[in-house]
Amino acid sequence: MSGRLISWDDREVPFDLLVSIPLHGGSEIVARSPGLGDDLGFVRVDRGTLQSEAAPNVFAIGDATNVPTSKAGSVAHFEGETLIPNIQRLLQGRELESAYDGHTNCFIETGFHKALMIDFNYEIEPVPGVFPEPHVGPLRLLRESRLNHLGKLAFEWIYWHVLLPGRPMLGISTKMQLAGKELGALEPERSTR
Ligand SMILES: Cc1cc2nc3c(=O)[nH]c(=O)nc-3n(C[C@H](O)[C@H](O)[C@H](O)COP(=O)(O)OP(=O)(O)OC[C@H]3O[C@@H](n4cnc5c(N)ncnc54)[C@H](O)[C@@H]3O)c2cc1C
Repeated sequence: MSGRLISWDDREVPFDLLVSIPLHGGSEIVARSPGLGDDLGFVRVDRGTLQSEAAPNVFAIGDATNVPTSKAGSVAHFEGETLIPNIQRLLQGRELESAYDGHTNCFIETGFHKALMIDFNYEIEPVPGVFPEPHVGPLRLLRESRLNHLGKLAFEWIYWHVLLPGRPMLGISTKMQLAGKELGALEPERSTR
């Protein structure tokens, strides 16, 4: 089957297979609150402190923000560890800490009982290496493995019994660890964004 894609300015693009992703936007309530959101309805925050640009006593984390990283559970989790001390600092009249570095990590199931894992931040794209323990792993970054898939399955238990009760996750730091990462594997122009 084939078709034609016709854009709003009347350009036409023929296609055999169309994979279309709708515009990703934030909350309508944010979009209609003057100064709070960007053009897409995401809350405009300082990417390090997570304080809203609209008002000092407003903070945002998770999918609601406009920070340039993934909309992912790990982002909301790591941001939470910056958010709480910064709310305490604000209440105590102290300077906020620009602590969130964009750290994100995700399993990516690739089928056949294997998965990839990626770990990155605002400055460093996903790189090969090991996770979470530097030089030990046992999970592999940017490489398919069965152990990564088992790690993803184990994470379900960790989610309910460690993350949700608010227990610390041993070996997982809020900031992206560079030890154990093959940073030289990146082409120079891809190493920052
Ligand atoms: C299908 C799917 C698969 C995903 N898989 C992964 C994955 O494998 N790994 C990963 O890291 N992330 C994954 N994500 C992304 C992850 O779920 C989100 O990034 C994460 O849940 C964001 O957390 P949050 O607290 O910001 O928002 P949410 O989890 O969306 O929480 C927002 C809450 O606010 C509530 N709410 C909304 N409006 C109002 C209102 N007006 N008043 C009161 N409450 C309100 C909502 O009901 C909701 O409970 C996935 C997302 C989807 C949809």
